[in-house]
Amino acid sequence: MIDLHTHSNRSDGTLSPAELTARAAAAGVDVLALTDHDSTAGLEEAARAGKPLGVRLVPGVEISASWRSQAIHVLGLWIDPESALLRRALEAQADRRRLRLDKICAHLAAIGLPGAQIKAASQSAEGLPTRSHVAQALVKLGHAKSIEDAFRRYLGRGRAAAIAADWPALGEVVGWIRGAGGCAALAHPMRYALSSGARRGLLEDFKESGGSAIEVVTGGNAAHHIDACAALALRYGLCATVGSDFHDPERAWNPLGRLAKLPDCVIPAWKNHGV
Ligand code: AMP
Ligand code: MN
Ligand code: MN
Ligand code: MN
Repeated sequence: MIDLHTHSNRSDGTLSPAELTARAAAAGVDVLALTDHDSTAGLEEAARAGKPLGVRLVPGVEISASWRSQAIHVLGLWIDPESALLRRALEAQADRRRLRLDKICAHLAAIGLPGAQIKAASQSAEGLPTRSHVAQALVKLGHAKSIEDAFRRYLGRGRAAAIAADWPALGEVVGWIRGAGGCAALAHPMRYALSSGARRGLLEDFKESGGSAIEVVTGGNAAHHIDACAALALRYGLCATVGSDFHDPERAWNPLGRLAKLPDCVIPAWKNHGV
């Protein structure tokens, strides 16, 4: 079984890279990509843990980009994590994340919440801060009932602390991934708040800038989304990937590796990679 989109605690997942790999093995996944947000810090540990379990680790990352002022996620798969270009780029992404955390907490403080306390509770011991960490801190400190509630009240679209990070342009991010020898795959294409016309524009620009694949099957995706993504893959000449976007065993609706089959009409991205 193949799962090419997962998170560890090096970004906003709850399991360590080794725990994630063991859980993937137990779920029958034998080709696993670890794709932490803007970080490759967990890849070595995951690869090492995977070897004796028969899990082949695909070195990956999920990079935040912007397109027409929308945050877009691009998966870099089969990347060389040692690429100097990519390493420099991910350091800059980490700086952007830290800066955004400061801004988010300042906005929360401005509406009367304890900004400094929330910032301290949002720092991740193992990896980069994400909005998920802020949401967890808001829950822990009693300002939200759940992660979803924290996004709904404070962090999501149009809310007081919805801070657009200054992510680099989509084409630039695709360039980093290609520069590191990787395959750039557009993550969860149906999750962006875009009209279908705008979505086609996104795919067109993605292909134009060197994107190679699109995530056709993603965790919790409805069947009609799979069909829509397969149609986009065919229309723009892109390969297809599958990934759960697993973060946390507690989110039982989004398990590792339990993914729908790719439609026969699309070309799997792993065909070029000996899988
Ligand atoms: P960031 O990359 O820092 O903007 O954080 C984005 C992450 O927050 C995503 O990868 C999801 O894991 C999580 N997230 C975003 N929106 C929601 C939501 N409405 N409910 C729960 N988690 C969310
Ligand atoms: Mn996430
Ligand atoms: Mn994502
Ligand atoms: Mn993800």
